[in-house]
Amino acid sequence: MQVFYPAYYKDFHCIAADCPDSCCKEWTVDIDPETAGYYLSLPGSLGDTLRSVITHEDGAFAMTIQNGRCPMWQQDGLCRIQAELGHDALCETCREFPRLRHDYGDFIELGLELSCPEAARLILECDTSDLICISQVGNFQPEYDKQDMAFLRSARETFFSYLDTTEDTPAEILATLLNYGIALQRQFDGGTPAQLPEKPVLPKAAVSPAPLFAYFETLEILTPQWKKLLKSPPKQACFPAQTKALVRYFLQRHWLQTISDYDLLGRICFCVIACIMIGSVDIPAFRAAQLFSKEIENNTENLYALLDGVYNQSTLSPEQLFGLLYQ
Ligand code: SF4
Repeated sequence: MQVFYPAYYKDFHCIAADCPDSCCKEWTVDIDPETAGYYLSLPGSLGDTLRSVITHEDGAFAMTIQNGRCPMWQQDGLCRIQAELGHDALCETCREFPRLRHDYGDFIELGLELSCPEAARLILECDTSDLICISQVGNFQPEYDKQDMAFLRSARETFFSYLDTTEDTPAEILATLLNYGIALQRQFDGGTPAQLPEKPVLPKAAVSPAPLFAYFETLEILTPQWKKLLKSPPKQACFPAQTKALVRYFLQRHWLQTISDYDLLGRICFCVIACIMIGSVDIPAFRAAQLFSKEIENNTENLYALLDGVYNQSTLSPEQLFGLLYQ
């Protein structure tokens, strides 16, 4: 078994009280049944508080949200459960966040979530697509079609080699990615073998991303800030200096997930849409990236609405996305 992870993965440390956002703000924290049982059985004041704030609906346990955040959050920015019982007493969600784990049976990819400000700092500072690989001994079996997975890994490797060495502009990189995605999906669906496309020629001016903003207003919205940004006039997409790092992150996280439904083009369009939105909302790119991930990437309904939307919403089609890329 091989385990792959970006170099920054091991550098992550929660900055707790210094965090400008916090993972328990605005989100409902799901609690795994084992931890919920432990919390509900605790004696004393902590147990009484937990019994009053944990909800149990349709067999699932969760924390209520009070004043926009988890009720166990304290004024000093620390979690009361962690402060009184230690890190190991946290539920699985809080213990693992912002770490990602994609287990394909005979190999695993690890990463960090862009929605955490400290993880976002590490992700956006990274300038290589190389992953560190360690081996684990044991008998592990692939949980996917080996040939299709080899195709996906090799195609992603080809794009990452280009990404790490190219001097193309961010818009050219995104257009190349879109063209490559169209060719790869065609090959995946039985067409001719895909090559990394030639550098695209882009128009000097782009169309407005306003229809994209209007579409995002139809999705579930978590924070007042995102709602306000979507209502404000978008600036013409201005791709940030960190575009390469963003593309690297979105492709590392989503590309191989294609093995579950064979929709590679949808995921590539998702990456392009994410970069356009991050470059079009009127706040610094670092905050925009973190907010986009919190609002869209970590909301399964929103993520799948976008993946489906690539095929059933003209605003999200590859043709429309090309129109938003310019020199
Ligand atoms: S969002 Fe990240 S840095 Fe902030 S409290 Fe959560 S894990 Fe720590």
